[in-house]
Amino acid sequence: MTTKTLFSRIIDRELPADILYEDDVCVAIKDIHPQAPVHVLIIPRKPIVNLSHAEPGDQAILGHLMLAAGEVARQLGVADAFRIMINNGQNAGQTVFHLHLHLLANKRFAEQGLFD
Ligand code: AMP
Repeated sequence: MTTKTLFSRIIDRELPADILYEDDVCVAIKDIHPQAPVHVLIIPRKPIVNLSHAEPGDQAILGHLMLAAGEVARQLGVADAFRIMINNGQNAGQTVFHLHLHLLANKRFAEQGLFD
């Protein structure tokens, strides 16, 4: 028996979430513990564990996530300034083992600092 990921359960509407965008390949939800005024998670429907587990056959999905990030940013009115982050692995801060892009915006990002 395989256990569904938290995000698969959200995608399948078994758990509630604030869904902002969806298409055939991915779903975008509001992060439940936002780290910025706009904090959205862009999640592929396919439960790829993380980038280290992505395969060449996932190339179209990975590209799609980037395009979806731009689309979500436009829809939210933050296309001029946003940051995309992926935590890969527990020691890098990954807590949900279903690949997702963090889209952060409306926060003052340092001009050069990656982590502010
Ligand atoms: P990461 O630490 O990169 O794996 O990111 C997981 C993210 O999922 C965190 O920012 C959490 O706040 C967020 N999160 C966890 N549970 C939920 C949920 N039920 N709905 C929305 N976001 C969630």
